[in-house]
Amino acid sequence: MKVFESVEEWRKHRAGLPRNLSLGFVPTMGYLHEGHLSLVRAARQNNDRIAVSIYVNPTQFGPNEDLAQYPRDRNRDLALLEKENTDWVLLPSDAEIYPPGFSTYVEPPEPSRLWCGQSRPVHFRGVCTVVTILFNLVQPTRAYFGRKDAQQAAVIRRMTQDLRFPVEIVVCPTIREPDGLAMSSRNVYLSPEERQRALVLSQTLAAGVERFRAGEREARVILESGTRQIANTPGVRLDYLGIVDQNTFAPVETVQPGNYMIGAVYVGKTRLIDNRVFESPGGCV
Ligand code: AMP
Repeated sequence: MKVFESVEEWRKHRAGLPRNLSLGFVPTMGYLHEGHLSLVRAARQNNDRIAVSIYVNPTQFGPNEDLAQYPRDRNRDLALLEKENTDWVLLPSDAEIYPPGFSTYVEPPEPSRLWCGQSRPVHFRGVCTVVTILFNLVQPTRAYFGRKDAQQAAVIRRMTQDLRFPVEIVVCPTIREPDGLAMSSRNVYLSPEERQRALVLSQTLAAGVERFRAGEREARVILESGTRQIANTPGVRLDYLGIVDQNTFAPVETVQPGNYMIGAVYVGKTRLIDNRVFESPGGCV
């Protein structure tokens, strides 16, 4: 496994690779867990070589968010990636990604407008900008994202299509703790009590999917009971709950298979997001 801290060194290396080599790419912010590693494994299975980036991207954090506290553990991350047979790791500094004078940002597409886009106004602009930079540097054949961040995946799919990046976007399932909590680097912020309370989000989404399975089709009805469930949990504040089209992230009135139920909550100061897909009665979307 080779670690690149210098973008210039990486560019030289990339330029020397054969044209027909397939390259799988997994962009991350580090503090890796099984969710990230599932993407690395999917990339490993379907490509000749794989590259993982670890970069806590400052432009996707708002001024009052957790950029400074965001957990980091470079040596642990590198050991985990080594075990997964990662070929190359990109570990750029802020100055490498945003050199002096940098001033071009990508305007995020329509699926970014609501939900996380409303709660975190600069977030998707930062995501689209850094993913564009990384796609240009890495020039991957395929890039892997988690469905845990379903709106982000929809935004990146749309951007990739609109800007004609020659990259196949692969979205992999959400990896959860045994009790249902979606894995997230931010779970480390939770006290034991908060960790217990945080379960209400995955439980509310699972209950929504269950109501659909039992025959309910009105989004409003599913959302009202979900909102109540979260409001009744002390120490948890609802940011949003919605039922959306999986591509546009526009809200739907009548739920159909393939729609997502999405939610964001604050557990104490920690903001967590999660989603579940409504499946057709046969189990497939
Ligand atoms: P992050 O380091 O949080 O920016 O995440 C990097 C990538 O890992 C993104 O594509 C996330 O959607 C994905 N990811 C994060 N958590 C999970 C999870 N629990 N299951 C699957 N993918 C995940």
